[in-house]
Amino acid sequence: TTRVESFLNDQCAQRPDGFAMSDGTGVEWTWRDLHEASDAAADCLSGHGVQPGDRVVILCENCTAAVAFLFGAWRVGAIAVPVNARQSASELARILDHAAPSVTVLTTAVSPDAIAHADRLGATATTGKYGTVHLAKTHASNPEDDIRIAVLLYTTGTTGVPKGVMLSHENLRFGGMASAHLREMTCKDVIYGVLPITHVFGLASIVTAASYTGAAIRFEARFSAAKLYAALGRGVTLLSAVPQMHALLMQYTAEQGFARLGSKDLRYVSSGAAPLDPAWKRKAEAFYGVPLQNGYGMTETTAGVSITKNPLGSPDISVGPPLPGVEVRIDESVPGGGHGMGEVLTRGPHVMLGYFRNPSETERALDAGGWMHTGDLGKFDDTGHLHILGRSKELIIHGGFNVYPPEVEAAINEHPQVVQSAVVGRMKAGDEEVLAFVQVSENCDLTADDLAAFLRDRLTGYKRPAVIVIGTQLPAAPTGKILKHKLLDAFAAQLS
Ligand code: ATP
Ligand code: MG
Repeated sequence: TTRVESFLNDQCAQRPDGFAMSDGTGVEWTWRDLHEASDAAADCLSGHGVQPGDRVVILCENCTAAVAFLFGAWRVGAIAVPVNARQSASELARILDHAAPSVTVLTTAVSPDAIAHADRLGATATTGKYGTVHLAKTHASNPEDDIRIAVLLYTTGTTGVPKGVMLSHENLRFGGMASAHLREMTCKDVIYGVLPITHVFGLASIVTAASYTGAAIRFEARFSAAKLYAALGRGVTLLSAVPQMHALLMQYTAEQGFARLGSKDLRYVSSGAAPLDPAWKRKAEAFYGVPLQNGYGMTETTAGVSITKNPLGSPDISVGPPLPGVEVRIDESVPGGGHGMGEVLTRGPHVMLGYFRNPSETERALDAGGWMHTGDLGKFDDTGHLHILGRSKELIIHGGFNVYPPEVEAAINEHPQVVQSAVVGRMKAGDEEVLAFVQVSENCDLTADDLAAFLRDRLTGYKRPAVIVIGTQLPAAPTGKILKHKLLDAFAAQLS
């Protein structure tokens, strides 16, 4: 069997006329349609000279055509590189340089940003069973030998320049199955596909999980709280999102005066890819009426490391126990470690092959024993649940005390007028000071002084921000995750 056939498994094959996926262009595909579209995409790619082992960049926003080209690339034995079309021209140039794809496919039917990139690349339109996309020949064919590689996924770039993570077909199989199994996903499910499939969380929890179970996907190219709210009333059973999306939905529903969803279909909601703070969890659960499960993972671990399995209203703020087959160990020997706390290491079928064309970073991340060094600080509680305290890179040491940004952010987010926040450290006179960037809605009159007063009895002195900057927008990745390393530049004017 080809790789596509092994991906669209029997659950899909048995229901060729079952609804598989729809997108913002009004396309509605059955599983047979998806199969035919993937074949057409494969033919299109080989027609453009793509060889096994070549990279194919799929510059997209969520849509059916992107999935057809993902499967199509696998069908010809190529390595798919899904990249979000919302990346800037210079970010894209860096990726095209690094991945050296022979062909770049652009999903111009759903994405104005893809159209702009297509113009810049001089791409030409092609139409087939997959719809209309644009194609550009970007490099000469230069195949990789390692046939295990299924995708290169670039990390979010929260802490710096995104790294190209090589995930194998086996990694994706494990991630998709784990995701499907956790959600008890079946062909009766309808997934709201708003997490970008260019990010590991969307790829695993939406695309591969659905293709193993026959669950249907309703793709949304861009997050909008109003659209999500509307979709939840129309048969969606599964929702996975980053915490920022849940927070924006809560802000929207509060503004609209919608207290509770009351959907009889929605049965599973999860949050992942960034810290979930207790205030958001409480508000979101009250709205959804189903538990909000918190999953921990990273691009390098095909998303899933651990996830909660809590009842509604649980006060648990952990990221749950490790997934079956996933090992997690705490390395207390790192700076600041001890008493059960340290760097989170993980090993198993979810761990990446390595960083593409970057052996030194790969060696830093993956040790000889197969352990992935996550760079996150964590500890286990008595019940065997993992707690993530923050990234070691972002740990702020102020006056000799450890300040974990997620804890400060959680306190700030308790304020009813705050949408979200990001806390970082900045060196000042030999010590690191705590800076908070706070997002409020357009018409909000909250001041930095108000917030400082609010935090006074919620945080010990050394954890309180020395500087609070209030704005209506924080620099974010296409998933909605906040790009912390861009904050200081973005707010330079307010900080000087
Ligand atoms: P970069 O590696 O380029 O700086 P990034 O680490 O944000 O970016 P991703 O792979 O998208 O790229 O994110 C993984 C990271 O997100 C984890 O290492 C962890 O720090 C954080 N994370 C993921 N899930 C959770 C969670 N449930 N709670 C807290 N942090 C989380
Ligand atoms: Mg990372």
